[in-house]
Amino acid sequence: MISHFPTAHINLSALQHNFNVVRQHSSANILCMLKANAYGHGLIPIAQALHEADGFGVARLEEALALRAVGITQKIVVMLGFLTHEELELFFQHNLDAVIHSEFQLDLLEAFTEILPLPLAGEGRGEGFNIWLKLDIGMHRLGFLPKDFAKVYQRLKQCKVISELMLMTHFPCADDFTNPITDVQIAEFFNITKNYSDKKSIANSAIILQHSVASRDWVRPGIMLYGASPLNYMSADNLDLKPVMTLSSRIIAIHELPAGAAIGYGSTWTCPEAMRIAVVAIGYGDGYPRHVPSGTPVLIRGKHLPLIGRVSMDLITVDLRGADEIEIGDEVILWGEGLSADLIANHADTIAYELFCRLTSRIKFIYN
Ligand SMILES: *Cc1c(COP(=O)(O)O)cnc(C)c1O
Repeated sequence: MISHFPTAHINLSALQHNFNVVRQHSSANILCMLKANAYGHGLIPIAQALHEADGFGVARLEEALALRAVGITQKIVVMLGFLTHEELELFFQHNLDAVIHSEFQLDLLEAFTEILPLPLAGEGRGEGFNIWLKLDIGMHRLGFLPKDFAKVYQRLKQCKVISELMLMTHFPCADDFTNPITDVQIAEFFNITKNYSDKKSIANSAIILQHSVASRDWVRPGIMLYGASPLNYMSADNLDLKPVMTLSSRIIAIHELPAGAAIGYGSTWTCPEAMRIAVVAIGYGDGYPRHVPSGTPVLIRGKHLPLIGRVSMDLITVDLRGADEIEIGDEVILWGEGLSADLIANHADTIAYELFCRLTSRIKFIYN
């Protein structure tokens, strides 16, 4: 039998628990965000486990088609929308909702309206597109500026091919509650759209947790479903979120080294005394961040022990002082249950979102 070391255990009951936390904060419809392979957790198994979701949000058309291909029937919203006429046809065929963020998409949609036979003769579906009109209230990435909203809205309303229109936006600073701009931007969105009865959607995880009143009619939780904190001032624990992914590997060697022995590439860490170190089978080739410094914790037999020296492609090294019971073959948790991904992300100067997304195909996923 071949040993397989780095493993991501995906706890589907923790996922369900976090979904219920969304429910506690908001009575809106829930669009579970599954972009980037469900934040690295596995697109299909996560979608299938979230059977109470009212819909799913993905970034790209390919992700939506992969969900339809395995029989997912819920609403699927493609955040980047479509780029070409051919893509628009696929949206129509597979009953996918599109976010419209730019004028060229409006042109495509109008042209599509003209070539479609009316009433629409889709296979088993007599409806048209569901369109999510994206407003840019300050992110300045995708979306229409407030000054163009009324004009764009009129054009969309005249497209006979549209069956439901949703109004949405996405805020840049929602994770930081010391920044008053988010309140201003929420107010601005509702002010611009107040005379429009269409359904509205403004809330990612950070908004859901801090502004439940404004979180209507569709909320779009991402990171909170996976059990990491979207807020820079509050831990996942304090938000009652449970880690879904536990990333682990095993100790494959233990050494007794003398004082003065330097560890790993660049010899960046030197043993201050005679001591034991463990070598663990995980590295940046698995997606563990190379930039974490010495002192970043790992969890072995319930103990937080410091990583020492540089992270290499397949291996890391750990200071075993004060942990004489630890042996070759022991499991090492890199993040997850007992060691929050947010903490490791802090050490890596990034966010848990990125840690999850950049795990490589060498990781074995186990769902239970
Ligand atoms: C990714 C994304 C979300 C979810 O954000 P989280 O911070 O992970 O909750 C919501 N809306 C849009 C448009 C997104 O792209």
